[in-house]
Amino acid sequence: MSIAPISSVFSNIASPLRKNTKTSSPDTHASLIHNAEFLEMMPWLNDRAIENALIELNELKFDTDDIKYLKNIGVNVPYKSGADAVKFIKKKNIRIIFDKTTEPGIHAQYDFGKNIITINERYRGTNDFAVILAIGEAILHEAGHAKDQDGESSVQEELDFLGMNAIAHRAFLKKYGEIFSDSQEPIIKDGVSVYAKLFFDKDTEKKNLIQRIKEKYGDLPAGDRIHPPGALARAVKRKTPY
Ligand SMILES: [Zn+2]
Repeated sequence: MSIAPISSVFSNIASPLRKNTKTSSPDTHASLIHNAEFLEMMPWLNDRAIENALIELNELKFDTDDIKYLKNIGVNVPYKSGADAVKFIKKKNIRIIFDKTTEPGIHAQYDFGKNIITINERYRGTNDFAVILAIGEAILHEAGHAKDQDGESSVQEELDFLGMNAIAHRAFLKKYGEIFSDSQEPIIKDGVSVYAKLFFDKDTEKKNLIQRIKEKYGDLPAGDRIHPPGALARAVKRKTPY
């Protein structure tokens, strides 16, 4: 996608970012208000890309049918909306920064000890709107991990949060159109776009999803106290079909 220009003038942040919207959004003022609100509630926030990712996340609503669909395949989302996650981030005073991740291929991670969500530093200073939305989705996922307050994960936990990513991604597609499709950025191509497809593909056995989760998270336990394993998680761990 083309690079959305972001003015260096604070008061102009919101409107240029709307350039790629499918349905034109007249509420640039609403975004400006949000902006001031954000700075007030998160005074540590001094990175424009993260700020805009949070603003987009805060406005994100999930489709209730999508939530039901996930529930039917044993996937439970920890937040009911993007705003729900942003509220939690504020309440728990979670910091969000660009930095080195433990491995270069990791898009984002949450450090339980430091209470920090780290976004891979390759995206520092980005003004690519699709990447900013993907960062919003990554923040949503990591805020899921933060909610558990245990510093650990499981296959079911990842399924719950990746499923939430899938419905967040679908909501962004609905709102902004096909803005992710020609992106070569790993956080999109090998991240958020992948899970929207895998969770919602027509294969009722979810073979490709199970294979992907096995590759990425197969070493984790099937479930945990907060995320008891469902059939999908068990299929990832064992050879049993879903
Ligand atoms: Zn995760």
